[in-house]
Amino acid sequence: MVKVHHLNCLEIQSPGNGRAIGHCLLLETKSRLILIDAGIGLLDTKNPDGRIGRNLINAVGFQFNEKRTALSQIKDLGLDPEKVTDCVVSHLDPDHIGGLADFPNATVHVGLEEYEHFQRGSHRYLQHQLDHRPRIKTYASTSETWRGLEARRITIVSETDIYLIPLFGHTVGHCGVALKYKANWLFYVGDAYYLRAELSDREHPVHALAEMRADDPQMRMESLNIIRRFVINNPQTKVFSYHDLSEFTPFVSDGTSKIHYRTDLKPDIKEVIELYQSSGIKRPVDDAARLANMYAHANLVITAWAGNTLVGIARALTDFCYCCYLSDLAVRRSYQRSGIGQELISLTRERIGNQTTLILLSAPEAVDYYPKMGFEKIDNGFMIRRSK
Ligand SMILES: [Zn+2]
Repeated sequence: MVKVHHLNCLEIQSPGNGRAIGHCLLLETKSRLILIDAGIGLLDTKNPDGRIGRNLINAVGFQFNEKRTALSQIKDLGLDPEKVTDCVVSHLDPDHIGGLADFPNATVHVGLEEYEHFQRGSHRYLQHQLDHRPRIKTYASTSETWRGLEARRITIVSETDIYLIPLFGHTVGHCGVALKYKANWLFYVGDAYYLRAELSDREHPVHALAEMRADDPQMRMESLNIIRRFVINNPQTKVFSYHDLSEFTPFVSDGTSKIHYRTDLKPDIKEVIELYQSSGIKRPVDDAARLANMYAHANLVITAWAGNTLVGIARALTDFCYCCYLSDLAVRRSYQRSGIGQELISLTRERIGNQTTLILLSAPEAVDYYPKMGFEKIDNGFMIRRSK
């Protein structure tokens, strides 16, 4: 029996297009782990400029955090990274294979056309991402089909069926991955579209970006049409891409990850007090009326929940177009260092948009934390302190 974990191994705050993620799959069998696309890796987070390059980082909006790597998330799941024996990749773009180096003994499975394009040295790839010289297994064109689509069978484990499904265009040899899971199938389409909206909205602004990034725009459109037809004809099969957050969330809230986020409610003040006490943040918790006022007048409150338990909160005041003061960021101690703070900051940034400066005062013990979350330290701030 195979278990599928959905991991977000990439954080992009795009200058023009908001937030994007890297939806990787981790297949867990009794004996081994198989990763489908690898997100950013440990080396990328340690040396972004050297590994990815400042121009690409600024153009795309990559964020770097060790906790986002597949390696770190596999450890957090209580699994052994040494058991990752195979990585299946949709294509070889930098944001999909940075993590491969964290699993140096894993065989990399990739479409033949894609690997040949990489070897020819296309400018879109970063050659050093395969400097660890993994064993590479390529898959060429075949007459086998899955649901009417060409399907290149990957035989790694007997417990399930895995196919590379050619969806060319984004890159020369870009493939999706079809995976038999329980009674049905998952169809992961990689970067065949960036946002689900591309399937239904032919005028969506993200088309322009997708077209610009495509090796073959016409083939990209053909692949998009294949997916459009597939979605209509196979309503029971879950189809999802790499970068679309809205497709990731339903998977993680149905049990594979314990945390869900809400932007539409302010919790009960008793819950807030309990969270503040359990997080270590210093706020007037013995003055419930004042705390209630703090929440009554805050206009951006984002909460993180494990089941019915409040485990994290971000409380901010903003005009949504110029400035935002993030006053309180608190995560329950037992949930700290699991990416909840980062997610709360990301969601705050998403809500305020990129016209808005996000400002905060750090607690002394968190001054090393915020630079890692993308904050810049300023030396021109002034304040008149509250006297009570
Ligand atoms: Zn991508």
